[in-house]
Amino acid sequence: MENGDRKIKVSDLTQYGICPRLVYFHAREHSEPGSGNERSMVERILLKELAFNLYMIYGSEAEYEGTEQKEVVERIIDDIADDVKHVYKRELSTLAADVFDAVKLDLASNILKDSEWLNKIRAENELLVLQKVHGYDREHTMVSEKLSLSGSVDKLIVTDDEVIPCMIKTGKCPEYSVWRSDRMQLAAYSMLIEAEFETTVRRGFVEYIRTAEFRACPIRRKDRAFALQTLKHVKRIKRGAFPDKGANAPCDNCIFLDQCETRKTLLSMLFRK
Ligand code: SF4
Repeated sequence: MENGDRKIKVSDLTQYGICPRLVYFHAREHSEPGSGNERSMVERILLKELAFNLYMIYGSEAEYEGTEQKEVVERIIDDIADDVKHVYKRELSTLAADVFDAVKLDLASNILKDSEWLNKIRAENELLVLQKVHGYDREHTMVSEKLSLSGSVDKLIVTDDEVIPCMIKTGKCPEYSVWRSDRMQLAAYSMLIEAEFETTVRRGFVEYIRTAEFRACPIRRKDRAFALQTLKHVKRIKRGAFPDKGANAPCDNCIFLDQCETRKTLLSMLFRK
């Protein structure tokens, strides 16, 4: 393993897709990936926990019989919020209680804007059946020395003849299928699973929890190749190469904006010399 290859995670590949320079700065600044806007961090955490607790909704209609959708959603989010404070103790240690409560209320009201949200989770769907029958291993961590890659997949479902990676996404859901970056991430997890379980991963799932969309995704050859190509770019950056910015880099909300501008100016001065 070459110097700089050791710490590459699947999340680095995802970050590269957002903006390659984020990989560069995170490798040097040791910033927490969740840092930045506190409210959106809390919202992401709550949504993610919601996805880890779908069993509270799917298959438990009898428990909530006759209860209004509003009350069901609020009760579930309240329940999850209590656990979140313990599970994410470090991340939430400096957060004011009123911010947490405000985000919780906003999330419930945003979810309730989609009158079908609850029904979409209650409807028959293959992923939730698989989770109900086989369970899943939460944040299953894998390491491959051969690939110089590691990662924790949100949910790993193991059936008699399949090992299936599932990712929870708190952002926007595409109209069809899954985003290209999500395909790449699933392919990267699949290669880690194959190394650990000596199997071939045929498909994965993406849970777009904000809109309760659960999408199956075949693991294609081109997605595997894309993940390996991205891994090579990330290795170069970790060894010190300063990359170009991403085509749709979210600079306005970026915590590295100042360092990025300074670095760009220094490079252009050197180039002129
Ligand atoms: S400021 Fe823009 S180009 Fe620089 S790291 Fe952030 S997102 Fe990327």
